[in-house]
Amino acid sequence: MQSYKRRQQNIVDRIDSEEPLAKWNDWKWQLRHSVNDIDTFETLLDIKFEAEEREALLKTLEKFPLSITPYYLSLIEAEDFRNDPIFMQSFPSPQELIVSCDEMADPLSEDHDSPVPGITHRYPDRVLFHISNVCSMYCRHCTRKRKVGDVESIPQKDEVLQGIEYIANNPQVRDVLLSGGDPLMLSDEYLDWILSELRAIPHVEVIRIGSRMPVVLPYRITDNLVNVLKKHHPVWLNTHFNHPREVTASSKQALKKLADAGIPLGNQTVLLAGVNDCYRILKKLFHKLVENRVRPYYLYQCDLSEGLTHFRTSVGKGIEIMENLIGHTSGFAIPSYVIDAPGGGGKIPVMPNYLISWSTNKVILRNYEGVITSYKEPDSYEAIYCDRKCDDCALQLKLDEAREFRYVGIAKLLSDFDDALSLVPEDTERMERRNIA
Ligand SMILES: *Cc1c(COP(=O)(O)O)cnc(C)c1O
Repeated sequence: MQSYKRRQQNIVDRIDSEEPLAKWNDWKWQLRHSVNDIDTFETLLDIKFEAEEREALLKTLEKFPLSITPYYLSLIEAEDFRNDPIFMQSFPSPQELIVSCDEMADPLSEDHDSPVPGITHRYPDRVLFHISNVCSMYCRHCTRKRKVGDVESIPQKDEVLQGIEYIANNPQVRDVLLSGGDPLMLSDEYLDWILSELRAIPHVEVIRIGSRMPVVLPYRITDNLVNVLKKHHPVWLNTHFNHPREVTASSKQALKKLADAGIPLGNQTVLLAGVNDCYRILKKLFHKLVENRVRPYYLYQCDLSEGLTHFRTSVGKGIEIMENLIGHTSGFAIPSYVIDAPGGGGKIPVMPNYLISWSTNKVILRNYEGVITSYKEPDSYEAIYCDRKCDDCALQLKLDEAREFRYVGIAKLLSDFDDALSLVPEDTERMERRNIA
């Protein structure tokens, strides 16, 4: 097996023997030399596809384009590239053209919950703000595959301004999640401008950036970028590591710069068949992440996006993985396992059951080892009746610090002050009869 340095040198030699290796760490050089076609991929990795497979690959590229940074490509181990987690995440598979009947172009209905272009407003207090639709590497498992490489939908400045205006006009938005594409594809100056505009909105408390740069192009995390980001604190950043092999010296360096700038780091992993659907791999990944001050945030069940069938696992696999993590390792190394509900229901957490039974004063629980235990509830607990008149309440919440939201869902059923008894689907025959009567 070749060392990483050796592979890197080979790749640079094959790209352009005139260029010095020193350029490798220049993110713009990496972008200029991104691999977008099969020929170059074959040359750089020194492999060859059979004619039939080539043809299928070319067809796949017509629908879903290819882009890999030389850096990310250099992490592929050519000797067994077909099983390589880096290869599988970045190189097309003809299986992407198989669309099963449950799959959709926009499974999360992001385009439906979009009041203005670029904004997805799904939850009461936070929005997703698409400020870029390009990436340095096109993940094959991208949930927004429908938009990848679609030059038409690159948000223009006036569109970004509309998004900023929407946020400014909606005081309930306290958390803005910059996404894309990869927001860090934008220049430092442009990001500085967007961040300044958002910071000028008094009700925006936190700004989050979702970026895969620390994984696929860690050299993007420059001192200058970090200085721009930290001017606008609190800024959080969520990245997207899927496999321990992605945690390299370069990516560690990028994470260190971000963490040293006081940016809290999180990670969103997608559970992918053949890549990381193994608790030993994921445990290793999560350990490496916390070692580098990155908190595993979400483990996603793979979405129902078109072309992802071959990446999807059963939900049972995810629950089995959570069973093997909870209790077995540090709590902060364990993400929440979520299914992003098709149709725009948002993220729904799923996990093994720990609550086995319950009586009027005892809860029966089981732990990760199989110990079954009981927790005796207090005999004397008197809950404070909540009529939402917080001014008269003994609990100290200054009302001017509390934001008001409409109560919804199970929380509404649980509340003392709302007289809703049930949540009832509207489209039943019984309801229709009632409406007629
Ligand atoms: C994931 C997501 C968010 C953020 O959700 P958190 O659970 O707060 O991380 C916000 N808006 C949309 C549309 C999302 O998909």
